[in-house]
Parts: sequence; structure tokens; C-alpha cells
Amino acid sequence: MNPGDYQSHNDGEETRRQLAYIDRLTGYVSTLRDELGRNPRACVVTFGCQMNARDSEKLLGILITAGYDETDEESDADLILYNTCSVRDNANQRVYGRLGVLKGYKKSNPHLKVVLCGCMMQEEACVNKIRTSYSFVDLIFGTHNIFKFAELMCEMFENSGHPGTQVWNETDQIVEELPVRRKYSYKSGVNIMFGCNNFCTYCIVPYVRGRERSRSPKDIIRECEKLAADGVKEIMLLGQNVNSYGNDFEEGNPDKISFAKLIDEVTKVEGIERVRFMTPHPKDFSDELIDVIANNKKIARHIHLPLQSGNTEILRRMNRKYTKDDFLNLVNKIRTKLPDVAITTDIIVGFPGETKEDVDDTIDVVRKSAFDNAFTFIYSKRTGTPAASFEDQVPEDVVKENFDRLLKVVQDTAKEQSLKYKGQVQEVLVENVNDHDDSLMTGRMSNNTLVHFPGGEDLIGKMVKVKITECHGFYFFGEIAE
Ligand code: SAM
Ligand code: SF4
Repeated sequence: MNPGDYQSHNDGEETRRQLAYIDRLTGYVSTLRDELGRNPRACVVTFGCQMNARDSEKLLGILITAGYDETDEESDADLILYNTCSVRDNANQRVYGRLGVLKGYKKSNPHLKVVLCGCMMQEEACVNKIRTSYSFVDLIFGTHNIFKFAELMCEMFENSGHPGTQVWNETDQIVEELPVRRKYSYKSGVNIMFGCNNFCTYCIVPYVRGRERSRSPKDIIRECEKLAADGVKEIMLLGQNVNSYGNDFEEGNPDKISFAKLIDEVTKVEGIERVRFMTPHPKDFSDELIDVIANNKKIARHIHLPLQSGNTEILRRMNRKYTKDDFLNLVNKIRTKLPDVAITTDIIVGFPGETKEDVDDTIDVVRKSAFDNAFTFIYSKRTGTPAASFEDQVPEDVVKENFDRLLKVVQDTAKEQSLKYKGQVQEVLVENVNDHDDSLMTGRMSNNTLVHFPGGEDLIGKMVKVKITECHGFYFFGEIAE
């Protein structure tokens, strides 16, 4: 199928409205420039996952188009925007902590506007707390109306002094083609879908991001073509559960293609050299996808496959819809058909009712799966999720002990896995000058780990072959291969 055969879902009307608001916003920014005697500066801070990072690029794109300069320094900014996360409580607490500091900045810069958006703002209790304890915040909006950012900014300038809050409960809209300011010239995330229908019992995402909505293949491929034309080499396809892509399209709709088919199409875009995806759900990981990865070397040799727990009863209570054996069988199949693929995972410790023996099951899966890396999280009780009202919450000291036991095995397993790369020649996308030693460059291997090697800045954004000489667990040293 050609990109032209797919239908765009976007008639462009809302895009045109928002572009007109960006124009209007330019006027407010220009007035501000006259008052300041310089370009106003905007600082966008992202909390949380790759989806938020991508949203922040869109928000910054609008601000820059309207005339703001970008700054990384909050103390220097005339607009500070926090794009928040609420997956775990510590993310919420970090936002509250930093808001306390912003109050001081507001006093020294009367022009400063503080804007909050993202998942936390979809929680009524958070918005109420901000309204009462941090009343200096100028604008609050949620995840569903993020495409209205320019419109909301205009309202903020028009109603100066009256804090604006606009949080929607749902949307079925996907608005395409608004400006984006990418953080990296050579790689980019591309949303393929928004929201989640899985309702894992610990997780707040379905409540703050809404139901699954897939973008049309045509819009996705057009975006990838534009990115490639702009010098992007690596694309990461983003969604909360990428392998349920297209499930929301009706039968008979030509857009209804599988995720496996979609990723294959994306790799055909001229100029794109590597395609990643994040995150697949183990319950939906098809044989078709494994075969497509096996036959397509442009698809990165990395699969992030969240386990969450290795105990079948805990998995049932988490509503994950797979058992310990299902997971192990899937890993086995992947390891057999894709021997060069790195597998990483997410694990939660301390889910209600979890015993030491249950964690032993998780440790068993870590050992048998030989994960290349694992992100381990302590269970965080999220108000409104089913697990928050489970009565058998686990005491903190038990969680801590289990967490430390698991972490040790995760680290040992990862280190062992990394040794297999020693002596190998790997394709590396060069990302930046090494943070600690400017004679070294840092690049990303197909398996998603970093490698440092001698080289010049002219290599940034290029694919080079690097021979791995030293393994340090989560990173490597190497040298350019002849
Ligand atoms: N949709 C993806 C998935 O299913 O893996 C990503 C969801 S979430 C943003 C990323 C990770 O956060 C999850 O895989 C899970 O391990 C962790 N997480 C989600 N809710 C959590 C909670 N209440 N407490 C601790 N960790 C949590
Ligand atoms: Fe949360 Fe589960 Fe959806 Fe991932 S699949 S976002 S963990 S509900």
C-alpha cells in the first residue's frame, strides 16, 4: 500500500483555527518584547515519559513561532511551562516543590507567566490544590486540549490577572500539522496513538489520557517523510500500547492496519535509517510483529516489554491479562527468532498483596528472561485507580527489602548480558559530545544503549560503525571500526 492510499482523519479546520491563534499570540509576544526591550524567553520543563517529551516539543514549537526565545534557565524566563506527569506520586511532589520556588521568581519578574499542563492537571484534586496553594499560576490545561495551547495563551493575555483553567474530560480530536520544535535534529518521536484502554489496576494513565485514538497511517507517514526531509535518521513510534494500534478503526476501514504493518511502512520512508517503538504490551505482541522485526534490519534491535510482576496472581490483580508462563513463552519466542534483540522491562514492587514469594517469582522471570535492563519502580498508590482501594497495601519496610533484592538481580543480569557485546561492531547513531570528556563522542546503539568513542563533532547525526572495546553495564566504550 502507498501512503496516498490511506485516508487522513484531519480536515484541517482546527489546525487553521489554531494557526490563527498563533498569529494573534505573536501580537501579545511583540507587545511584551517592547516592554522588556528584548525577546521574551520561555522555559519548558518536561516531567515523565516520551509522550510528554513529544508534547513539550509541540508546545515549544508554538511558543517559538509566536516569538519567544527558548531558555533552559527558569530564573531567566518570562514564561515557565511545566508539562507534568502523574504516574507516580513522587512526580507530583516534585512539581509542588518547584512551584514553591517559582513564587519567588514571580516577585522579581512581574512579567513572568507560569503555565501548567499534562497528566497531573487531569486530576481534580491537583488542580484544586494549585488553585488554593499556588494561586500565582496563570494558566492550567490538561492533556485533551493541548492542541489549543495558542488559543489558551491568547485568553491568558486577554484576561490578564484572572487565572485560566481549562481541563477537558475527553476528546476524540487529533489535530495535525501544528509547529514543533524538536530537541534533537537527528531523531524524533512520532505519536501513532493517544490514550489507553487497558486499565491496569495500578495505573492512572487511562484516566488522565483517555481512550485509545489512533492517528491515520497517512498522517503518520507524512510526518515521518517531513522529518526525514529535515534530516531525521531515527524515529520512535510512540503510544501507551503501540501494538493495539488501529483497534479503534472500524472493520473495512482501509486505515485499519496492524502495528506490524505500520512499522514496516515507516521503515520504507526514504532517509529514515532506524525505527524504534515504545511501548508494546506483552498480551498483544503478535507473531506478525516478531516476523516483521526479524525481516527488517531498519527496526531497532530493542524491545521494551513491561513485565510489571512475575507472579500470575499479582498479574491477574493488576489486570495485565497474561500469566508468568505466557510472558516467559513470549520472551522465549523473541529470543529464538530475534537472537540479536535486547529486551528491557518495567517492574513494580509492592503492589497490594505482594509477598516475598511473589517477588521470588519476579526474580525468577528476570533471571530466565535475562533482561538487558529493567526499570524497577516502587508501587505508588494513585487515587481513583482500583488498586488504591485494595486493602492489603504492603508495608514500606517489606517493599524496600523486596525492591533491593530484585534490584541486585536486575543489575547482575544486565551486566552479564552486556558482556556479549564486547568485540562486536555496532551501528551507532552519534548523538553528542561526551558530557565528561570532549575528545569522546556519545552515540546510541540499535539496542538503545550508549557508547562513548573517540571522534569529532562532525559525526553528530550520522550513523557510524563502532567496535565495542569495554562494557560497563549500562554503557560501553568503543572505537570507530575501519
Ligand atoms: N503503557 C506503558 C506500559 O504499559 O508499560 C507505559 C505506562 S507507564 C507511563 C510506565 C511505567 O510506569 C509502567 O510500565 C509501570 O511499570 C510504571 N507505573 C505505572 N503506574 C505505576 C504506579 N502506580 N506505581 C509505580 N509504577 C507505576
Ligand atoms: Fe498504564 Fe497499563 Fe495502559 Fe500501560 S497498558 S498505560 S500500564 S493502563
